[in-house]
Amino acid sequence: MTDFAFPAPAPTTLPIAGSSALFPVARVFCIGRNYRWRADEPAPRDMPAWFMKPASAVVPASGTLPYPAGTEDFCHEIELVVAIGRGGRDLTPAHVEAQAIWGYAAGLDLTRRDLQQQAKLAGGPWEPAKAFDHSAPCSPIVPAAACGHPRQGALWLAVNGVERQRADLSALLWPVPELVAMLSRSVTLMPGDLIYTGTPAGVGPLLPGDVVSAGVAGIGQFSMTVTGGRAA
Ligand code: MN
Repeated sequence: MTDFAFPAPAPTTLPIAGSSALFPVARVFCIGRNYRWRADEPAPRDMPAWFMKPASAVVPASGTLPYPAGTEDFCHEIELVVAIGRGGRDLTPAHVEAQAIWGYAAGLDLTRRDLQQQAKLAGGPWEPAKAFDHSAPCSPIVPAAACGHPRQGALWLAVNGVERQRADLSALLWPVPELVAMLSRSVTLMPGDLIYTGTPAGVGPLLPGDVVSAGVAGIGQFSMTVTGGRAA
């Protein structure tokens, strides 16, 4: 038996819709701009940027959401989340849906926007803006065996009942199979990886006391309340 110096941290897990089994989270990849935020925005020629959050940033999308330390501009981004069940590298788009994707979820790519602006200006890393505690709430994972591979359907987010973001999955500039294939040419994907696929227009700030409601049609919806301080 392996002799650890101290007890190994328990894996981050998410509930699975319709099952008592848990989805073990390996890593979190987030895709940059992947929807048109303006109607006249030209089609991109290059694949979008990607960045990561630690698995420990993932929390079930329910209950409370602590306002993070170190920011005065805590922003919401609703995204379709792809859950990888079988990893690999140099996957083809056809292989991605047939074998790699285990399921889908609705998630928030929460962002300390002021720190992101500072990082962009300084040419510094995005982790302070993106990779903080509780920064990746995620709904229960829906197995692809149950929901198929969604190519269309609304994703939306409202704050205190006022809609802020709404788009259709068909508007993804880089569809899921191409996105996952692209990532797999850069890193070897692992079972348990989550891929946040980018957010549509309408990102904006959250304040303590706000109720965030969001979802992806046919995949999941949730509501969380922003609390005033750092959670345990
Ligand atoms: Mn995002």
